[in-house]
Order: sequence, then C-alpha cells, then structure tokens
Amino acid sequence: MHKLNNEISIKNMKTFLKISGSLLLGLIIVLSLWIHSNLKDRNPGYKADMIIRGNNLSPLKTGFAAVPITPDVPDKWTDKNGDAKYTPKDGDTFTDGNGNGVFDPVWIAGFSNGRAANGVHDDLWARTMVIDDGKTRIAIVVLDAIGFMNDDVIDVRKRIPAESGVTYTIITSTHSHEAPDLLGLWGETPYKSGINKKYREFVKDQAAKSVADAVKNMKPALLYVSENLTEAGLLVKDTRAPQISDSGLRLIRAVDKENGKTLGSLVAWADHGETLWSKNLLITSDFAHYFREGVEKGVFSGDSLVKPGIGGVAVYINGAIGGLMTTHPSLPVQDPFTGKEYMEPTFEKAEAQGKKLAMIALTSMDKPAEIIDSAGISGIVKTINLPIDNKMFKLGTAVGMLNRGTTGWMNMRSELSVFSIGPLSFATIPGEIYPEIVNGGIETPQGQDFKINPEEIPSVREMMPGKYKLIFCLANDEIGYIIPKSQWDVDPPFTYGRKDSPYGEENSLGPETAPLIHSYLKEMLSSLK
Ligand SMILES: [Zn+2]
Repeated sequence: MHKLNNEISIKNMKTFLKISGSLLLGLIIVLSLWIHSNLKDRNPGYKADMIIRGNNLSPLKTGFAAVPITPDVPDKWTDKNGDAKYTPKDGDTFTDGNGNGVFDPVWIAGFSNGRAANGVHDDLWARTMVIDDGKTRIAIVVLDAIGFMNDDVIDVRKRIPAESGVTYTIITSTHSHEAPDLLGLWGETPYKSGINKKYREFVKDQAAKSVADAVKNMKPALLYVSENLTEAGLLVKDTRAPQISDSGLRLIRAVDKENGKTLGSLVAWADHGETLWSKNLLITSDFAHYFREGVEKGVFSGDSLVKPGIGGVAVYINGAIGGLMTTHPSLPVQDPFTGKEYMEPTFEKAEAQGKKLAMIALTSMDKPAEIIDSAGISGIVKTINLPIDNKMFKLGTAVGMLNRGTTGWMNMRSELSVFSIGPLSFATIPGEIYPEIVNGGIETPQGQDFKINPEEIPSVREMMPGKYKLIFCLANDEIGYIIPKSQWDVDPPFTYGRKDSPYGEENSLGPETAPLIHSYLKEMLSSLK
C-alpha cells in the first residue's frame, strides 16, 4: 500500500509540477511578451537629424493658427442616483448632470492621481507659428498639456499634410498641470494610466491641423523683437537652491509686411503652469490663458481697457522651468490695477499673473529692440538616445505606464535642435532643464553625491549665437528634470543643509542626463555658428 500510495503521490506530484510548471512558463511568456511589447521601439530607425544652412538676405514669411484641443468634460458628475460625485471611479457609468450621456473620466495631469475634471474653464489649444525663409519652413507648435512624448511627436509629424511643405516641426507643451494627462502618470490610481487614447488621437490630429492652418495663413512678415529680462521675476518662485531662474520675457511680434497688422506673436517665459495648484478640477491652461488673451485682446481693469492688445495669435513658449520654477501658493501675486494680493491658488490669482505678464509684454513690444526684415534659417536637429537610469522610470517603461517605446535596452529616443534666424537663436530641450544650466551659476554644494566640479559649462546661452536667445523647454519630448550633475543629491549628507533628498531627482532619467544633453548642445551650437 505504502508503495502504491507513494507511487500515486509521486505521480500526482509529477502531474502537479507539470501543470504548475507549464502555467508558470505560460505566465512568464505572457509577461515577457507584454513587457517586450511595452519596450518595443515604436519608430524603428527614426532619426530627425538635419543640417540647414540659410541665406542671410532671405525675406521671411510667417503664419499662425490656434486649434482647440479641449476635451469633452461634463460640468457635473452624477452617479446613477443623481448624486454629485466629484471623483468618478474608472469603469463607473456617469451622466452629465442632466441625465444625458455616459463619459469616461478625464484625469487631470500633475500633482496627485485620481483628479477627475469637473468641467472646462477655458479652451485648451494647439497653437502654431510657422516661419519660412523661402527654402526652409519651421513649425513651432505649443500644446496646452503637461507634456508630449517623442513617439507622439513623431506621430503628429506623420499626420501633417505633405503639401504643407514643413521642413521641421517642433512640438512643445505649456506644462499645464490643469489639463488632461497625456503622459500616463495621473490616472485613477498610480497603477492605471491616465491617458484617454481617443483624446490623445484627437490632440495629434488637431496639432497636425494647426500646422496645416498656420501654413495656409502665411504672409510676408517683419519680425519685431523685444525683451524684458527683469520685471517678471517676482511672478515666479525658485523652490530649490541655487536661486537661479529663467524669468526673462522674450518676445517676437510678426507683422504683415503689407498692412502692418499683427499676424501673431511668440511670447516666451518660464514657469510651471500650476498657479491653480492641486485642488482645481476645471480644465484650463492656467495663467497662460490670461497671458495670451491679454497680448491678443488687451488688458482690462474691470470693464475698461487699460492696454490695447496687438491682435493675431499669441503662442506662449515655456523656458527653463526645472529646479523648480513655480508660482507656489506661498508666492503672492498682485493684481496690477487694484493692488489686491492673491496668495491662495485661485483663478483670480492666475488672472492677475497673466495680466501682469501681458502688461510687461505689450509695453516691451511697443518699442521693439530690433526689426528683422530678412534673414536665413539655419539649424541643426539631432535625434539622441538617453539611458534610463531611474529605477521607477525603468519599471514604468516596462509596464507601459510611461507610454513610450525604447531604443535598445533601457534607452529612450529623444531629440535636440538649435536654430538661428538673424539675431535670434533658439535651442529646443526635451524636458525640464534647470535654469543654472541655461543661464549659468551651477554650484558644487557640500553634500553633493558626485565629488565633481560643474560639468555643464559654459552655460547654454553663452554658447548660443545671436543677440536674442530663446529656450524651448519640453520640446519634442518630456523626459523629466535635467539636473546639473554636481548638484545631484540622492544620498546623505544632503546639500544646502537639507534633511532629506530634494525634489527633482525622482523625476529625472538620471545623473548623466544633463552632462549628455549639454555636450550634444555644445557640439551642435559650435557648428551652428
Ligand atoms: Zn514640471
């Protein structure tokens, strides 16, 4: 019996091992196929690389367009019993408050998970400026979004009609923390993507349309260039030492050569689009909304127009916002007319900020420092590979939370570009670069993780040609923070007397990102000159 029993149990055990073994094997295969599909390069062999040499005497044309990318959001979520619910759960059915329709929640990006939009305060946009020297046509697109990844940028480029004749398209984001998640990190829970794929497709189509429309609107133009590098400094706070920001306003107003009317403007500043902070549930482009409205339509005090606008389409571009540039709830903003001070994150605060920015911009544009009549477009574009060192980013990419492919084992494809147009130059950077890398002032604080001197020198602006130097942050990608290696601080003792690791490193690809990007830019800018 014993023998028999043993035989049975051995047989059972063998069967059990066989079944569980094949189950485990199956699971491993499914899991690795899934990870493999998440890591798969979505654009194998893609390179945006180009070298463009312009002729200095070319007459310029520009065109502008603004195409809405506002999501469909009901004003009031109600459950089946008609009770208001402010944080819908994914998968539930909802009505729009009048008992109509069923909606998927629109998850707002930035801050915490599970922030479902409860309505729309102002339209979100894909805004484009196209500039053409007769040989080269560059499109500069800005989305009211937290960020837009390189794979998605490539998709938009494929959707731009060939007849638009665009040489190169740059797609940046205003980094609004009050707009739908397009990166995937702010779904209902940390384990669920916040991306609504239908909405993302809509954004891609509208972005491509905004380029095509801007091309159709192109006219011979003069570029009025001006800047105010000091007055907007009080509207943004630097929340991490050293205190270096990128708070200068740099402005280009494109004027129709024939009738003197404004075709549009490019207004560049640098701040997180999060003045409304973490509790707001209405879709908005934050202060950028009021800034652009002010530049286009004028700045009002109550009902009376204080400063007329210039018309056309205003395109707001974000600069070096890492390290971290924000209009934090602890930073008061004063209404330029009533003098009232706003501290709490409210639409009144964002409006006061936008009005102030518009006043400074409009006043500066009244007296252009330079008028560009003709110039050639020169530029260098480079697709780069960046190693993913951050463990959470590795995991996020493997499980598809960071919804992008990889190029080789834990490398991501990204992109840099540098351009010059007469006295103007600009550099596009794929994430949130720390201002000290752009403007100088990198430090070697005690407690640094790497005992090194600043590596990212000279500063990007020192290396850029021309008189007016614009930085486009979050351009053609959002790779996270780009931190000077000598200020990298994960391990104790911490820098600047801190008790903990500062915010930034956890949302960075790794310590080699900044030196790598800087060395590419150095090479590109030296051959642009
Ligand atoms: Zn940010």
